Amino acid sequence: MSGLLFVLSGPSGAGKSTVRKAVMKQCKGLKYSISYTTRLRREGEREAIDYYFVDDDTFKHMKENHMFIEWAKVHGNFYGTPRLKMEEWLQSGFDVILEIDVQGAFQVKRNYPQGIFVFIAPPSLETLGERLRNRKTDREDVIYLRMMNALGEMKSIRDYDYLIINNILEETVHKFHSVIIAERCRIRYGDNENQEFLSE
Ligand code: 5GP
Repeated sequence: MSGLLFVLSGPSGAGKSTVRKAVMKQCKGLKYSISYTTRLRREGEREAIDYYFVDDDTFKHMKENHMFIEWAKVHGNFYGTPRLKMEEWLQSGFDVILEIDVQGAFQVKRNYPQGIFVFIAPPSLETLGERLRNRKTDREDVIYLRMMNALGEMKSIRDYDYLIINNILEETVHKFHSVIIAERCRIRYGDNENQEFLSE
């Protein structure tokens, strides 16, 4: 039995974490892969819950020892998905959610083409700017950088399987949850669980 891999991308400020956390409360059998980052911890963020916060040397060491499934430099900091936990969870039949940027998603797609790629977009660039400012966690120059990156990321939407516009949070959560349910029901040939129904 092998779990499903859901890859969630979208500009920062689009609401990925909020949506993911809400869906995980409603939906059993899901694991969230906590990333490593060299970014400084924001107020309210917790080690080993939001991220594993590491220095550049530790990140470099992990990268060189192939401990990441994927890694990328985003907004000037490094981020990476640890390999071991994710592979263990998938092999044990858990469905796994990655919350990563589009560069990382492309790397994952090369190694896990069977992954399900979901893009969460803000209703507009103006809304994104407002949300980033309301978070009050970043300086104006960082917000500008994040908005420029958002424009770039939106160009990759075509490479995803699902697009969810996060306008009303409750609806977005419902849509992502529905994607998970639908993908769990999809017939996959070669899937041991469904074999008795699929054999001729
Ligand atoms: P933030 O600094 O706002 O937490 O995250 C910035 C961006 O980095 C977001 O788009 C987030 O999805 C992405 N990100 C977080 N973890 C990873 C990771 O492990 N790999 C990659 N490629 N991107 C990540």
